[in-house]
Amino acid sequence: MADFDLALRGGTIITPEGRRRADIGVRGGRITAIGRVSDAHRVVDADGMFLMPGGVDTHVHLMDPGSPEREDFPTGTSAAAAAGVTTIIEHAHGRPLRTAADLTQKVDYLRGRSHVDFGLAAHAWPGATDAVADLWAAGAAFFKVFTCTTHGIPGHDAAALKAHLSASAEVGAVSLMHCEDESLTAAAESILREQGRDDGGVLQDWRNRDAEVVAAAVAAMLVRRTGAHASVAHVSHPEVASYLHAERQRGARINAEGCPQYFLTREWEALEHGALRKFTPPARARNDADEAEMWRLLRTGVLTHISTDHAPSTLEQKAAGDIWEVHFGLPGLDTTMSILLDAAARDELSYEDITRVYSETPARIYGLAPRKGRLRVGADADIIVVDPAARRVLRNEDVISRAGWTPFNGRSVTGRVEQTYLRGDLIAEHGSVPADPQGQWLPGAGKHR
Ligand SMILES: [Zn+2]
Repeated sequence: MADFDLALRGGTIITPEGRRRADIGVRGGRITAIGRVSDAHRVVDADGMFLMPGGVDTHVHLMDPGSPEREDFPTGTSAAAAAGVTTIIEHAHGRPLRTAADLTQKVDYLRGRSHVDFGLAAHAWPGATDAVADLWAAGAAFFKVFTCTTHGIPGHDAAALKAHLSASAEVGAVSLMHCEDESLTAAAESILREQGRDDGGVLQDWRNRDAEVVAAAVAAMLVRRTGAHASVAHVSHPEVASYLHAERQRGARINAEGCPQYFLTREWEALEHGALRKFTPPARARNDADEAEMWRLLRTGVLTHISTDHAPSTLEQKAAGDIWEVHFGLPGLDTTMSILLDAAARDELSYEDITRVYSETPARIYGLAPRKGRLRVGADADIIVVDPAARRVLRNEDVISRAGWTPFNGRSVTGRVEQTYLRGDLIAEHGSVPADPQGQWLPGAGKHR
Protein backbone atom coordinates (compact mmCIF):
# COMPACT_ATOMS: atom_id res chain seq x y z
CA MET A 1 0.00 0.00 0.00
CA ALA A 2 1.23 3.48 -0.87
CA ASP A 3 2.05 5.83 1.97
CA PHE A 4 0.28 8.76 0.33
CA ASP A 5 -2.92 9.40 -1.59
CA LEU A 6 -1.24 12.16 -3.56
CA ALA A 7 2.27 13.37 -4.21
CA LEU A 8 3.10 16.72 -5.81
CA ARG A 9 6.65 16.27 -6.96
CA GLY A 10 9.46 18.64 -7.83
CA GLY A 11 7.69 21.94 -7.29
CA THR A 12 8.86 25.00 -5.39
CA ILE A 13 6.97 25.47 -2.12
CA ILE A 14 6.21 29.07 -1.20
CA THR A 15 5.66 30.28 2.37
CA PRO A 16 5.73 33.84 3.75
CA GLU A 17 9.35 33.28 4.85
CA GLY A 18 10.76 31.91 1.63
CA ARG A 19 10.78 29.14 -0.94
CA ARG A 20 12.38 25.75 -1.41
CA ARG A 21 12.14 22.82 -3.76
CA ALA A 22 10.41 19.87 -2.14
CA ASP A 23 7.69 17.27 -2.70
CA ILE A 24 4.37 17.38 -0.86
CA GLY A 25 2.75 14.17 0.36
CA VAL A 26 -0.99 14.10 1.12
CA ARG A 27 -2.96 11.55 3.06
CA GLY A 28 -6.54 11.72 4.31
CA GLY A 29 -6.92 15.26 3.01
CA ARG A 30 -3.97 16.63 4.97
CA ILE A 31 -0.37 17.39 4.19
CA THR A 32 1.58 14.60 5.88
CA ALA A 33 5.04 15.12 4.43
CA ILE A 34 7.16 17.86 2.93
CA GLY A 35 10.53 16.71 1.61
CA ARG A 36 11.09 13.66 -0.55
CA VAL A 37 7.92 11.71 -1.26
CA SER A 38 8.05 8.51 -3.27
CA ASP A 39 5.18 6.08 -2.98
CA ALA A 40 1.75 7.58 -3.79
CA HIS A 41 -1.50 6.50 -5.47
CA ARG A 42 -1.44 9.61 -7.60
CA VAL A 43 1.74 11.44 -8.57
CA VAL A 44 1.65 14.92 -10.10
CA ASP A 45 4.75 16.34 -11.75
CA ALA A 46 5.09 19.93 -10.51
CA ASP A 47 8.53 20.56 -11.96
CA GLY A 48 8.96 24.26 -12.75
CA MET A 49 5.75 25.11 -10.86
CA PHE A 50 5.15 27.02 -7.65
CA LEU A 51 3.17 25.22 -4.94
CA MET A 52 1.23 27.75 -2.89
CA PRO A 53 -1.53 27.53 -0.29
CA GLY A 54 -5.02 28.06 -1.74
CA GLY A 55 -6.35 31.57 -1.37
CA VAL A 56 -8.27 32.43 1.81
CA ASP A 57 -10.69 35.16 0.79
CA THR A 58 -12.46 36.44 3.87
CA HIS A 59 -14.73 39.13 2.39
CA VAL A 60 -17.08 37.62 -0.17
CA HIS A 61 -20.81 38.09 -0.91
CA LEU A 62 -22.45 35.18 -2.75
CA MET A 63 -26.06 36.40 -2.24
CA ASP A 64 -27.30 32.87 -1.53
CA PRO A 65 -29.81 32.91 0.02
CA GLY A 66 -30.72 36.54 -0.56
CA SER A 67 -30.29 37.67 -4.17
CA PRO A 68 -29.47 34.53 -6.23
CA GLU A 69 -30.16 36.42 -9.47
CA ARG A 70 -26.83 38.17 -8.78
CA GLU A 71 -24.81 35.12 -7.65
CA ASP A 72 -25.26 31.86 -5.78
CA PHE A 73 -22.98 29.47 -3.93
CA PRO A 74 -22.45 27.00 -6.84
CA THR A 75 -21.50 29.78 -9.29
CA GLY A 76 -19.49 31.93 -6.87
CA THR A 77 -17.51 29.04 -5.42
CA SER A 78 -16.85 27.59 -8.90
CA ALA A 79 -15.23 30.91 -9.71
CA ALA A 80 -13.24 30.68 -6.49
CA ALA A 81 -12.01 27.12 -7.14
CA ALA A 82 -10.98 27.88 -10.70
CA ALA A 83 -9.15 31.00 -9.55
CA GLY A 84 -7.22 29.13 -6.83
CA VAL A 85 -9.24 30.19 -3.78
CA THR A 86 -9.97 27.23 -1.50
CA THR A 87 -11.51 28.97 1.53
CA ILE A 88 -13.96 31.86 1.68
CA ILE A 89 -15.80 33.67 4.44
CA GLU A 90 -19.18 34.74 3.13
CA HIS A 91 -21.92 37.10 4.22
CA ALA A 92 -24.95 38.40 2.30
CA HIS A 93 -26.71 41.67 3.04
CA GLY A 94 -29.94 40.43 1.42
CA ARG A 95 -30.35 37.82 4.18
CA PRO A 96 -28.29 38.88 7.19
CA LEU A 97 -27.59 36.42 10.02
CA ARG A 98 -28.82 38.03 13.24
CA THR A 99 -29.33 34.98 15.49
CA ALA A 100 -27.67 31.61 16.07
CA ALA A 101 -30.75 30.00 14.49
CA ASP A 102 -30.21 32.06 11.30
CA LEU A 103 -26.65 30.74 11.14
CA THR A 104 -27.65 27.09 11.66
CA GLN A 105 -30.32 27.42 8.97
CA LYS A 106 -27.85 28.82 6.45
CA VAL A 107 -25.32 26.07 7.20
CA ASP A 108 -28.06 23.48 6.53
CA TYR A 109 -29.18 25.21 3.34
CA LEU A 110 -25.62 25.34 1.98
CA ARG A 111 -24.91 21.63 2.39
CA GLY A 112 -23.76 20.42 -1.05
CA ARG A 113 -23.74 23.91 -2.58
CA SER A 114 -20.11 24.99 -2.09
CA HIS A 115 -17.06 23.97 -4.11
CA VAL A 116 -14.67 25.39 -1.51
CA ASP A 117 -14.57 25.39 2.28
CA PHE A 118 -16.43 28.31 3.79
CA GLY A 119 -17.01 30.26 6.97
CA LEU A 120 -20.12 32.41 7.46
CA ALA A 121 -20.12 35.86 9.00
CA ALA A 122 -22.99 37.41 10.98
CA HIS A 123 -24.25 41.01 10.85
CA ALA A 124 -23.96 43.25 13.89
CA TRP A 125 -27.17 45.21 14.51
CA PRO A 126 -27.15 48.50 16.41
CA GLY A 127 -28.32 47.84 19.96
CA ALA A 128 -28.48 44.05 19.57
CA THR A 129 -25.31 43.33 21.53
CA ASP A 130 -27.02 40.40 23.30
CA ALA A 131 -26.78 38.42 20.05
CA VAL A 132 -22.98 38.67 19.90
CA ALA A 133 -22.09 35.94 22.41
CA ASP A 134 -24.69 33.52 20.98
CA LEU A 135 -23.68 33.96 17.36
CA TRP A 136 -19.99 33.71 18.22
CA ALA A 137 -20.53 30.50 20.20
CA ALA A 138 -22.61 29.09 17.30
CA GLY A 139 -19.63 29.50 14.96
CA ALA A 140 -19.97 32.86 13.18
CA ALA A 141 -16.65 33.67 11.51
CA PHE A 142 -16.84 37.40 12.30
CA PHE A 143 -19.33 40.24 12.72
CA LYS A 144 -19.86 42.64 9.82
CA VAL A 145 -20.42 46.12 11.19
CA PHE A 146 -21.54 49.17 9.21
CA THR A 147 -20.90 52.70 10.43
CA CYS A 148 -23.31 54.03 7.77
CA THR A 149 -26.62 52.60 6.63
CA THR A 150 -25.68 50.74 3.43
CA HIS A 151 -27.20 47.91 1.35
CA GLY A 152 -30.23 48.10 3.71
CA ILE A 153 -28.13 47.30 6.80
CA PRO A 154 -28.43 49.93 9.57
CA GLY A 155 -25.30 51.84 10.53
CA HIS A 156 -23.67 52.04 13.97
CA ASP A 157 -22.92 55.48 15.40
CA ALA A 158 -19.96 55.74 17.77
CA ALA A 159 -22.03 54.70 20.79
CA ALA A 160 -23.50 51.63 19.07
CA LEU A 161 -20.08 50.69 17.69
CA LYS A 162 -18.50 50.98 21.12
CA ALA A 163 -21.22 48.75 22.60
CA HIS A 164 -20.73 46.16 19.85
CA LEU A 165 -16.94 46.15 20.23
CA SER A 166 -17.18 45.86 24.03
CA ALA A 167 -19.51 42.87 23.73
CA SER A 168 -17.15 41.34 21.15
CA ALA A 169 -14.07 41.88 23.30
CA GLU A 170 -15.77 40.04 26.16
CA VAL A 171 -16.13 36.81 24.14
CA GLY A 172 -13.09 37.22 21.86
CA ALA A 173 -15.14 37.80 18.72
CA VAL A 174 -13.66 39.42 15.59
CA SER A 175 -15.36 42.17 13.55
CA LEU A 176 -15.06 43.48 10.00
CA MET A 177 -16.00 47.15 9.91
CA HIS A 178 -17.27 49.07 6.87
CA CYS A 179 -16.10 52.61 7.65
CA GLU A 180 -17.84 55.63 6.15
CA ASP A 181 -19.24 58.38 8.37
CA GLU A 182 -23.01 58.60 7.92
CA SER A 183 -23.32 62.35 8.60
CA LEU A 184 -20.69 63.17 5.98
CA THR A 185 -22.10 60.91 3.24
CA ALA A 186 -25.67 62.14 3.98
CA ALA A 187 -24.65 65.83 3.83
CA ALA A 188 -22.85 65.26 0.53
CA GLU A 189 -25.78 63.32 -0.89
CA SER A 190 -28.30 66.08 -0.21
CA ILE A 191 -26.13 68.67 -1.95
CA LEU A 192 -25.52 66.42 -4.98
CA ARG A 193 -29.21 65.60 -5.31
CA GLU A 194 -30.15 69.28 -5.02
CA GLN A 195 -27.79 69.92 -7.94
CA GLY A 196 -29.59 67.22 -9.92
CA ARG A 197 -26.37 65.27 -10.40
CA ASP A 198 -26.60 61.69 -11.64
CA ASP A 199 -23.26 61.22 -13.43
CA GLY A 200 -20.58 58.74 -12.34
CA GLY A 201 -18.63 61.58 -10.76
CA VAL A 202 -21.09 61.75 -7.83
CA LEU A 203 -19.42 58.66 -6.32
CA GLN A 204 -16.20 60.38 -5.24
CA ASP A 205 -18.09 63.36 -3.76
CA TRP A 206 -20.86 61.34 -2.12
CA ARG A 207 -18.63 58.57 -0.67
CA ASN A 208 -15.87 61.07 0.01
CA ARG A 209 -12.42 60.66 1.57
CA ASP A 210 -13.39 62.60 4.70
CA ALA A 211 -16.25 60.19 5.39
CA GLU A 212 -13.95 57.16 5.20
CA VAL A 213 -11.05 58.69 7.14
CA VAL A 214 -13.29 59.98 9.96
CA ALA A 215 -15.14 56.68 10.38
CA ALA A 216 -11.99 54.54 10.18
CA ALA A 217 -10.08 56.69 12.66
CA VAL A 218 -12.93 56.61 15.19
CA ALA A 219 -13.48 52.88 14.70
CA ALA A 220 -9.79 52.07 15.17
CA MET A 221 -9.65 54.20 18.30
CA LEU A 222 -12.67 52.38 19.74
CA VAL A 223 -11.10 49.02 18.90
CA ARG A 224 -8.07 50.02 20.99
CA ARG A 225 -10.13 51.46 23.85
CA THR A 226 -12.42 48.40 24.09
CA GLY A 227 -9.65 45.82 23.58
CA ALA A 228 -11.60 44.29 20.70
CA HIS A 229 -10.12 42.61 17.60
CA ALA A 230 -11.26 43.94 14.24
CA SER A 231 -10.42 44.68 10.62
CA VAL A 232 -11.31 47.75 8.62
CA ALA A 233 -12.78 46.54 5.32
CA HIS A 234 -11.65 47.73 1.88
CA VAL A 235 -9.16 50.44 2.85
CA SER A 236 -9.25 52.66 -0.23
CA HIS A 237 -6.20 54.89 0.12
CA PRO A 238 -3.01 55.46 2.14
CA GLU A 239 -4.39 58.06 4.55
CA VAL A 240 -6.88 55.55 5.99
CA ALA A 241 -4.13 52.96 6.29
CA SER A 242 -1.93 55.43 8.17
CA TYR A 243 -4.57 55.99 10.89
CA LEU A 244 -4.96 52.24 11.33
CA HIS A 245 -1.22 51.79 11.46
CA ALA A 246 -0.91 54.48 14.15
CA GLU A 247 -3.58 52.81 16.30
CA ARG A 248 -1.88 49.44 15.80
CA GLN A 249 1.33 50.97 17.12
CA ARG A 250 -0.58 52.20 20.17
CA GLY A 251 -1.66 48.61 20.80
CA ALA A 252 -4.94 48.25 18.91
CA ARG A 253 -5.68 44.82 17.43
CA ILE A 254 -6.69 46.37 14.14
CA ASN A 255 -6.16 44.92 10.66
CA ALA A 256 -6.31 46.78 7.37
CA GLU A 257 -7.94 44.92 4.48
CA GLY A 258 -6.99 45.86 0.91
CA CYS A 259 -8.80 44.91 -2.32
CA PRO A 260 -7.43 44.89 -5.91
CA GLN A 261 -9.84 47.61 -7.08
CA TYR A 262 -8.10 50.17 -4.84
CA PHE A 263 -4.79 49.37 -6.49
CA LEU A 264 -5.72 48.98 -10.15
CA THR A 265 -8.82 51.01 -10.93
CA ARG A 266 -8.60 54.80 -11.13
CA GLU A 267 -10.85 57.48 -9.70
CA TRP A 268 -11.69 58.88 -13.18
CA GLU A 269 -13.01 55.54 -14.43
CA ALA A 270 -16.36 56.22 -12.73
CA LEU A 271 -16.86 59.17 -15.09
CA GLU A 272 -16.51 56.87 -18.09
CA HIS A 273 -17.99 53.61 -16.77
CA GLY A 274 -20.60 54.92 -14.29
CA ALA A 275 -22.39 52.10 -12.48
CA LEU A 276 -19.69 49.58 -13.51
CA ARG A 277 -17.40 51.45 -11.11
CA LYS A 278 -20.02 51.96 -8.41
CA PHE A 279 -18.56 50.43 -5.27
CA THR A 280 -17.95 52.02 -1.90
CA PRO A 281 -15.62 53.39 -0.83
CA PRO A 282 -14.95 54.17 -4.51
CA ALA A 283 -11.60 54.02 -6.31
CA ARG A 284 -9.24 56.76 -5.11
CA ALA A 285 -5.98 56.08 -6.98
CA ARG A 286 -5.38 58.77 -9.61
CA ASN A 287 -2.12 57.61 -11.17
CA ASP A 288 0.61 54.97 -11.16
CA ALA A 289 2.37 56.58 -8.20
CA ASP A 290 -0.79 56.20 -6.08
CA GLU A 291 -0.96 52.55 -7.11
CA ALA A 292 2.72 51.98 -6.30
CA GLU A 293 2.19 53.42 -2.82
CA MET A 294 -0.65 50.94 -2.18
CA TRP A 295 1.61 48.01 -3.17
CA ARG A 296 4.31 49.39 -0.86
CA LEU A 297 1.86 49.50 2.04
CA LEU A 298 0.87 45.89 1.32
CA ARG A 299 4.49 44.73 1.06
CA THR A 300 5.40 46.35 4.36
CA GLY A 301 2.37 45.09 6.29
CA VAL A 302 0.63 48.45 6.80
CA LEU A 303 -2.15 46.90 4.73
CA THR A 304 -2.36 43.53 6.47
CA HIS A 305 -4.20 41.33 3.97
CA ILE A 306 -6.21 41.16 0.75
CA SER A 307 -9.79 40.17 0.02
CA THR A 308 -11.95 40.68 -3.06
CA ASP A 309 -15.11 42.15 -1.49
CA HIS A 310 -16.77 40.10 -4.25
CA ALA A 311 -20.21 41.74 -4.66
CA PRO A 312 -21.37 40.86 -8.17
CA SER A 313 -24.15 42.22 -10.35
CA THR A 314 -24.67 41.33 -14.03
CA LEU A 315 -24.20 43.98 -16.73
CA GLU A 316 -28.01 44.12 -17.07
CA GLN A 317 -28.42 44.68 -13.32
CA LYS A 318 -25.78 47.41 -13.41
CA ALA A 319 -27.71 49.10 -16.23
CA ALA A 320 -31.08 49.04 -14.42
CA GLY A 321 -31.58 52.48 -12.88
CA ASP A 322 -29.49 55.60 -12.39
CA ILE A 323 -26.20 55.90 -10.48
CA TRP A 324 -28.05 56.39 -7.19
CA GLU A 325 -30.19 53.25 -7.56
CA VAL A 326 -27.97 50.48 -8.97
CA HIS A 327 -26.25 48.02 -6.62
CA PHE A 328 -22.87 48.83 -5.19
CA GLY A 329 -20.11 46.31 -5.81
CA LEU A 330 -17.77 44.55 -8.22
CA PRO A 331 -17.18 40.89 -9.06
CA GLY A 332 -13.68 39.82 -7.99
CA LEU A 333 -13.30 36.15 -7.08
CA ASP A 334 -12.38 35.23 -10.66
CA THR A 335 -9.50 37.70 -10.83
CA THR A 336 -7.95 38.49 -7.43
CA MET A 337 -5.36 35.68 -7.40
CA SER A 338 -4.40 36.52 -11.01
CA ILE A 339 -3.96 40.19 -10.10
CA LEU A 340 -1.67 39.23 -7.19
CA LEU A 341 0.39 36.77 -9.26
CA ASP A 342 0.80 39.44 -11.91
CA ALA A 343 1.84 41.99 -9.27
CA ALA A 344 4.55 39.52 -8.18
CA ALA A 345 5.67 39.08 -11.79
CA ARG A 346 5.92 42.90 -11.95
CA ASP A 347 7.92 42.99 -8.68
CA GLU A 348 5.28 45.01 -6.82
CA LEU A 349 5.37 42.27 -4.19
CA SER A 350 6.88 38.79 -3.84
CA TYR A 351 5.21 35.39 -4.25
CA GLU A 352 5.99 34.95 -0.55
CA ASP A 353 3.97 38.12 0.12
CA ILE A 354 1.00 36.61 -1.74
CA THR A 355 0.93 33.60 0.58
CA ARG A 356 1.04 35.99 3.54
CA VAL A 357 -1.62 38.50 2.45
CA TYR A 358 -4.08 36.20 0.67
CA SER A 359 -3.68 32.98 2.73
CA GLU A 360 -1.86 32.98 6.05
CA THR A 361 -2.77 36.35 7.57
CA PRO A 362 -6.51 36.22 6.80
CA ALA A 363 -6.61 32.59 8.02
CA ARG A 364 -4.96 33.67 11.27
CA ILE A 365 -7.14 36.75 11.82
CA TYR A 366 -10.36 34.75 11.46
CA GLY A 367 -9.32 31.67 13.43
CA LEU A 368 -8.82 29.29 10.49
CA ALA A 369 -5.08 28.73 11.09
CA PRO A 370 -3.19 26.44 11.39
CA ARG A 371 -5.61 24.20 9.46
CA LYS A 372 -5.80 26.74 6.62
CA GLY A 373 -3.51 29.35 5.13
CA ARG A 374 -0.09 27.70 4.93
CA LEU A 375 1.61 24.68 3.39
CA ARG A 376 2.80 22.80 6.46
CA VAL A 377 2.60 19.24 7.76
CA GLY A 378 -0.76 18.76 9.48
CA ALA A 379 -2.61 21.45 7.53
CA ASP A 380 -5.44 20.74 5.09
CA ALA A 381 -4.01 19.93 1.66
CA ASP A 382 -5.42 23.09 0.06
CA ILE A 383 -2.79 23.62 -2.61
CA ILE A 384 -2.55 25.51 -5.86
CA VAL A 385 -0.12 24.64 -8.63
CA VAL A 386 1.00 27.89 -10.23
CA ASP A 387 2.86 28.48 -13.46
CA PRO A 388 4.47 31.84 -12.64
CA ALA A 389 5.51 32.51 -16.25
CA ALA A 390 2.27 31.69 -18.09
CA ARG A 391 0.58 34.71 -19.65
CA ARG A 392 -3.10 35.28 -20.18
CA VAL A 393 -5.60 38.04 -20.80
CA LEU A 394 -8.43 38.55 -18.32
CA ARG A 395 -11.66 38.54 -20.31
CA ASN A 396 -15.35 38.94 -19.54
CA GLU A 397 -16.17 35.71 -21.41
CA ASP A 398 -13.97 33.66 -19.04
CA VAL A 399 -15.67 34.93 -15.87
CA ILE A 400 -17.42 32.08 -14.07
CA SER A 401 -19.23 34.27 -11.54
CA ARG A 402 -22.84 34.97 -12.53
CA ALA A 403 -21.73 38.60 -12.95
CA GLY A 404 -20.25 37.61 -16.32
CA TRP A 405 -17.81 40.53 -16.46
CA THR A 406 -14.75 41.96 -14.76
CA PRO A 407 -13.47 45.53 -14.36
CA PHE A 408 -10.11 44.12 -15.51
CA ASN A 409 -11.39 42.95 -18.92
CA GLY A 410 -8.57 43.09 -21.48
CA ARG A 411 -5.77 43.25 -18.93
CA SER A 412 -2.72 41.06 -19.68
CA VAL A 413 -1.42 39.20 -16.65
CA THR A 414 1.52 36.91 -15.97
CA GLY A 415 1.04 33.85 -13.74
CA ARG A 416 -1.68 31.23 -13.93
CA VAL A 417 -3.22 28.76 -11.49
CA GLU A 418 -3.03 25.39 -13.26
CA GLN A 419 -4.59 23.20 -10.58
CA THR A 420 -6.51 23.69 -7.35
CA TYR A 421 -6.61 21.02 -4.64
CA LEU A 422 -9.08 21.12 -1.76
CA ARG A 423 -8.15 18.75 1.08
CA GLY A 424 -6.14 16.72 -1.43
CA ASP A 425 -8.85 16.49 -4.13
CA LEU A 426 -8.37 18.15 -7.51
CA ILE A 427 -11.33 20.55 -7.72
CA ALA A 428 -10.28 22.69 -10.70
CA GLU A 429 -7.79 22.45 -13.52
CA HIS A 430 -6.81 25.06 -16.12
CA GLY A 431 -9.69 27.29 -15.09
CA SER A 432 -12.30 24.58 -15.60
CA VAL A 433 -15.49 24.55 -13.55
CA PRO A 434 -15.41 21.78 -10.95
CA ALA A 435 -17.96 18.93 -10.96
CA ASP A 436 -19.49 18.08 -7.60
CA PRO A 437 -19.33 20.50 -4.66
CA GLN A 438 -17.18 19.21 -1.78
CA GLY A 439 -16.84 22.33 0.33
CA GLN A 440 -17.44 22.11 4.06
CA TRP A 441 -18.55 24.69 6.59
CA LEU A 442 -15.73 25.94 8.83
CA PRO A 443 -17.16 27.01 12.20
CA GLY A 444 -15.54 30.15 13.59
CA ALA A 445 -13.15 30.29 16.50
CA GLY A 446 -15.94 30.80 19.08
CA LYS A 447 -17.30 27.34 18.36
CA HIS A 448 -14.11 25.66 19.58
CA ARG A 449 -14.00 27.35 22.95
ZN1 LIG B 1 -18.43 43.82 1.26
